Amino acid sequence: MKVACFSTKSYDRESFDLILPKHAHDFTYFEAKLDKHTVSLAKGFDAICTFVNDHLDASVLKKLNTLGVKNIVLRCAGYNQVDLEKADELGFKICRVPAYSPEAVAEHAFAMILTLSRKTHKAYNRIRDNNYSLEGLAGFNLNGKTVGIIGTGAIGHAFIKIALGFGCKVLAYDLIEDKSLKTLGVEYLTLDELLSQSQIISLHCPLTPGTKHLVNASTIEQMPDGVMLINTSRGALIETKSVIKALESRKIGYLGIDVYEQEEDLFFKNLSEEILMDEQIARLMTFPNVLITGHQAFLTKEALAEIAKTTLQNLDAIASGANLVNAIKYSY
Ligand code: NAD
Repeated sequence: MKVACFSTKSYDRESFDLILPKHAHDFTYFEAKLDKHTVSLAKGFDAICTFVNDHLDASVLKKLNTLGVKNIVLRCAGYNQVDLEKADELGFKICRVPAYSPEAVAEHAFAMILTLSRKTHKAYNRIRDNNYSLEGLAGFNLNGKTVGIIGTGAIGHAFIKIALGFGCKVLAYDLIEDKSLKTLGVEYLTLDELLSQSQIISLHCPLTPGTKHLVNASTIEQMPDGVMLINTSRGALIETKSVIKALESRKIGYLGIDVYEQEEDLFFKNLSEEILMDEQIARLMTFPNVLITGHQAFLTKEALAEIAKTTLQNLDAIASGANLVNAIKYSY
């Protein structure tokens, strides 16, 4: 198949080029993000390959349909960026990579927790300034702390295994309980109970209309004072303005985010010569107890190899008419 690959970075090209010779697909890489201005680049292709911030809204889907491009392979697990109702109506085949490396994201979430709890981000800068003082660097042990996980799917599961290894008490909330986790000692609670009892809260549920702004002024109020909040899932799970207020009042003691509600205009780009106009992220950067990474939790060699492998298998299945095991189910 002729495939137009959008939002391509050097690491995408490298991982795909390594195994493309084993598959009968011809990839054209575009650095451009897919949106209404760039969708015409897909003309003449059989399929498009997209990532988290590419637009698959109704207008882009309609244009793709007009161009006769009916196959979409997502290089990611989440699909909140797709207008599922329109895609279903127009008969698109859409496949994703459901679990390329849950460990990559879970380990990054833990890297954020350890950085914030042991202040290694401050120590790194201090030592480079020839400053070996330990004043202000006192952290806290993870052993014995209560960690609450919202969403116990593939990534939540991997995260829980790490948390148990650190000797944490693990609380969980999900619409569906995972029995295997209960046997490991994980306690499922209501969302309200989890919020009020967890010293560290990590978000691992998808962004849906039901989870948008799950962390807001009233849910923050239920959390213990000084709580640590970690979001490696999707930015809009958090209402940023409420989190900023809670950081100002010290209700939230630590914040680690790999995703950000307005990330689309910022992340995956080098904007170091630009004037930052996003006042919320600018404010977040001023807190000493906030750690921000630019949607890199997935970015390991292992995950990139798995994304390329599964994406090409998805294209193989579409091309041969085989069962699409990774097709998105149209329930919205
Ligand atoms: P998954 O589908 O395996 O698990 C998601 C879990 O969330 C499921 O158990 C589901 O029942 C639960 N859930 C759904 N709605 C819920 C709700 N309202 N309340 C509580 N739980 C709910 O997905 P996953 O592979 O574990 O990925 C989780 C999310 O992580 C993805 O949706 C994606 O947004 C994000 N992600 C981020 C990165 C990154 O690089 N930062 C990479 C991959 C995935």
